[in-house]
Amino acid sequence: MTEAQAKPVYNRVALIGLGLIASSMFWAMKRSGLAGEVTGYARSAETRDTARRIGLCDRICDTPQEAVEGADLVVLCVPVGVMGAVAAEIAPVLMPGATLSDVGSVKRHVIEDVAPHIPEGVHFVPSHPLAGTEHSGPESGFAELFDNRWSLLVPVEGSDPEAVACLRALWEGMGAHVEEMDADHHDLVLAVTSHAPHLIAYTMVGVADDLRRVTDSEVIKYSAAGFRDFTRIAASDPTMWRDVFLTNKDATLEILGRFTEELFALQRAIRTGDGEHLHAYFTRTRAIRRGIIEAGQDTDAPDFGRGPKK
Ligand code: NAP
Repeated sequence: MTEAQAKPVYNRVALIGLGLIASSMFWAMKRSGLAGEVTGYARSAETRDTARRIGLCDRICDTPQEAVEGADLVVLCVPVGVMGAVAAEIAPVLMPGATLSDVGSVKRHVIEDVAPHIPEGVHFVPSHPLAGTEHSGPESGFAELFDNRWSLLVPVEGSDPEAVACLRALWEGMGAHVEEMDADHHDLVLAVTSHAPHLIAYTMVGVADDLRRVTDSEVIKYSAAGFRDFTRIAASDPTMWRDVFLTNKDATLEILGRFTEELFALQRAIRTGDGEHLHAYFTRTRAIRRGIIEAGQDTDAPDFGRGPKK
């Protein structure tokens, strides 16, 4: 689809927070002409200056209120832990009939923090694009980030179907597949597929770092695919991930409990030389990897399709 062919889904979209997700949304909206005008706000002057320099957003504003005024869609693209405070700041200027959304990685907590601030007549439709990289900031975004990825909509009780449909059209226009999900289910699914794996990667890289003896030389020098992939995940933004664990506590602890049990079972199999157990386990997990590739959510290229190092 080209810009000329597309009809804007929204007249004015305001992006609050200008990091990886917001900047990718801007470039993806631009690519397909999905918004008449996109305004943006970030808390630091440095980020706003960078945004202006690289042409991120049609207009960068110095206050969140200025960015939100007159917008028919406002998307909160800040860390999960500050969504409520940011919503409180912009609530008085939200236009009646507008939609407020967010892209936070945790949904129940965000809904509880944001919903009380929403004025009558404003639609709240939380969302979460299941796409990202380990990079952050306004310069890390790119138009293709959401292509062929899932974006989950988590409508709250009484969400206006038309507002949900418009947001769905926006995400689809940005290249994503869209599904609706209940907040608690979302948080459990993400604890399994994203939050616990990140914690495990952070732990593994932390363990290697503790073994200073090897980190200084062999771990980096001989870093094989397994460890390298852990380090990529463990390079993710510390603020974002601190907030994810603090706000998706129950589901993450539930999954980590199960993980620990399985780890002990594998530990016992190694100690007792139970090769049958190990082989059966690894056969089962290999099938999951195949399923992800068949679903088009990853590539089976040895470097996961990342191409040569720049
Ligand atoms: P990011 O690149 O780190 O950018 C975060 C933005 O939020 C920056 O503009 C930052 O402003 C602003 N911000 C940070 N703390 C703030 C505060 N206390 N008050 C106001 N603004 C604040 O983040 P991101 O990766 O785009 O993530 C944004 C949201 O998307 C998060 O809720 C995250 O959970 C969710 N998400 C992330 C991914 C991913 O892989 N990264 C994937 C899906 C969803 P300054 O630059 O001025 O500091």
